[in-house]
Amino acid sequence: MHLPASAVLCDVAIVGAGPAGCTTARLLSLWGFNVIVIDSEKKKTYKFHEVLPPSSLPLLDALELQSLFKSDPRVATPCSGVTSNWYQNETYYDDYFASPGGSAWVVERIFFDQQLKNIATYNGVTFLNDSFIQDIVFVDGVWELNTNNKSIQAPFVIDASGRASVLSRNLGAKKLIGASMVAGGVSIPRSSDIEMRSGRLSIKTSSSGWGYSLMNGLGELNLVAVSTSKRLTKKDYFNETLLSLFPEYEDTLLSRLKHDQSSLKRVDASSSILDSVVGDAWLAIGDAATAFDPITSQGLVNALSSAMMGAHACREFLAGNPLGLLAYNKAIQATWQRSEKGRAYLYGMQTEQLP
Ligand SMILES: Cc1cc2nc3c(=O)[nH]c(=O)nc-3n(C[C@H](O)[C@H](O)[C@H](O)COP(=O)(O)OP(=O)(O)OC[C@H]3O[C@@H](n4cnc5c(N)ncnc54)[C@H](O)[C@@H]3O)c2cc1C
Repeated sequence: MHLPASAVLCDVAIVGAGPAGCTTARLLSLWGFNVIVIDSEKKKTYKFHEVLPPSSLPLLDALELQSLFKSDPRVATPCSGVTSNWYQNETYYDDYFASPGGSAWVVERIFFDQQLKNIATYNGVTFLNDSFIQDIVFVDGVWELNTNNKSIQAPFVIDASGRASVLSRNLGAKKLIGASMVAGGVSIPRSSDIEMRSGRLSIKTSSSGWGYSLMNGLGELNLVAVSTSKRLTKKDYFNETLLSLFPEYEDTLLSRLKHDQSSLKRVDASSSILDSVVGDAWLAIGDAATAFDPITSQGLVNALSSAMMGAHACREFLAGNPLGLLAYNKAIQATWQRSEKGRAYLYGMQTEQLP
């Protein structure tokens, strides 16, 4: 591939402007690197409301994101804890307000992602919107990328494309699936019929599967069911499971699911990892490197922490030390192993739901 003379030069090219891509781009730019992020709005997958548990608060401090969370209720509102009946139908409460480090957050992804992008832009990152990679080659120590809009040259590239892992797979990495899973759910706008129970994650199980309800600070309620792909042979699986998990919302669910089938959003929820999350002059971060079962509430923390670790490994590589890449790969693989062990333990309590 020969790039045109007009090819844009940068130090690091990143594919994907989710939490992982925006965060690593911002850090590298603050350290003086010239960073370009390639992102395609069309490739974005639907996001339900998400929870950042109290254990993530030190990470938010390290990334100086706490003020963003506190300043705008559209981005995040406090989460008071989790109620679940995961084990033997006993109700279990985990009250976050008792955490000494502070409460957790319910995150609204559209606003959160946009704010991370604004902060990265403010810190000097260039975004190529409506762009995706068409081909990429490594010539004499430099990556040459052709996108549908522009050609780019960079000595280091980062895959932050989420579960698609589009760049890593292009470079030969293999995706290993822990459990093949799908989530299906509906988002119900704020209404006077629904009591405002903002900020508590409620996890439920029934004989047909598990799911959760979560309301954000604007009063919008998400009802979500999670299933292994094996169970999805039944056409109305999600409709039936949502009704069995949330009988208290039967009227609302029936009217939405019957009148507008498109209101049911289905997304990939598999746990997965790449056989290697690094290679010669590249690495993967966030879901592109390793994705988790939603029961772990671990994805966003991993996106932000791997973005931070990945930025350090990239900086070391560009300074002439490739060993940081190996340490990064080891750390991500260890996180994955630990999470898979925890997941097996949790589903072991619910043998009929073990993927
Ligand atoms: C049902 C469900 C519930 C979840 N709940 C939680 C929770 O409560 N707490 C939590 O912490 N995590 C949760 N997660 C996980 C969380 O959503 C992910 O871990 C997080 O989005 C990962 O961020 P990311 O930046 O790696 O990827 P993403 O947010 O997926 O961003 C990827 C970016 O890459 C871009 N892109 C993709 N392909 C291309 C391409 N070919 N070219 C250019 N750009 C491209 C997309 O446009 C997007 O901007 C949940 C996941 C699911 C499925």
